[in-house]
Amino acid sequence: MKGKDMKQIRVAMMAALTTGAVFANPPNPKVEGDMFAVKKVAGTPNYAKPPAGAEVLFDGTSASAEANWVAEKPKEKGGVIWPIKDGVWIDTATDLLTKKEYGSVKLHLEWRVPKDRVAAGQKGANSGVIFMPKKGWYEVQILESYNNLTNTYSDGMAGAIYQRSTPASNPSMPKGEWQSYDITFLAPKFGADGSVGRKPTFTVVFNGVTVQDAVEIDGSTLKRTATLSPHPVKQPIKLQYHNDPIEFRNIWVQELGD
Ligand code: MG
Repeated sequence: MKGKDMKQIRVAMMAALTTGAVFANPPNPKVEGDMFAVKKVAGTPNYAKPPAGAEVLFDGTSASAEANWVAEKPKEKGGVIWPIKDGVWIDTATDLLTKKEYGSVKLHLEWRVPKDRVAAGQKGANSGVIFMPKKGWYEVQILESYNNLTNTYSDGMAGAIYQRSTPASNPSMPKGEWQSYDITFLAPKFGADGSVGRKPTFTVVFNGVTVQDAVEIDGSTLKRTATLSPHPVKQPIKLQYHNDPIEFRNIWVQELGD
């Protein structure tokens, strides 16, 4: 390429950058894009039965809820975990933790936003599934992202690894319809010297669509700037209570043992 052509390209690039700098509302540096900009695609939720050997964590019965889960703050509900109505588990008043601790897993869960629920950004229809919640905290966000009234940061929408990774597309279903997450979570590995041998790694299949493909994250999802530091790599799995009555049904887990 001639020097003159290079110069023209440079001029064009500078012009583009200048244009970008004069947005009426400059992007908030804390956020990564916006939810409404993520391409909507058709999904096919996975309602398949648990595979052989999977541990069923919830199947619509109180027996399965009580066998596998505890309320993190029992006093909030008098020690009672979430209510079940017609086989539907309603996210109420406290986070839940699995009784058992897990490392790397495949986790299937089905969730929905109640039909009459109004969602505005992060408010109204928010939950999440959190791995390593005691030390670490790596959340796959649950949020009404089909017809939310208010835009929000794209790495805080359904299918996002919260504050870390925007989903590749948005296969959300409307309110009132069951949606599926099939999450492969690889627990971090830490060396004896505190080094990071493997970062927490997520593959998220949302309504049958891969929206996170072996995405490694650099730290807790509680804070965008958090970095990784050694912690126990077997911990409970948490379902988040975020003041909203998100509904759940089939949940099962398969340990990956690595
Ligand atoms: Mg959440």
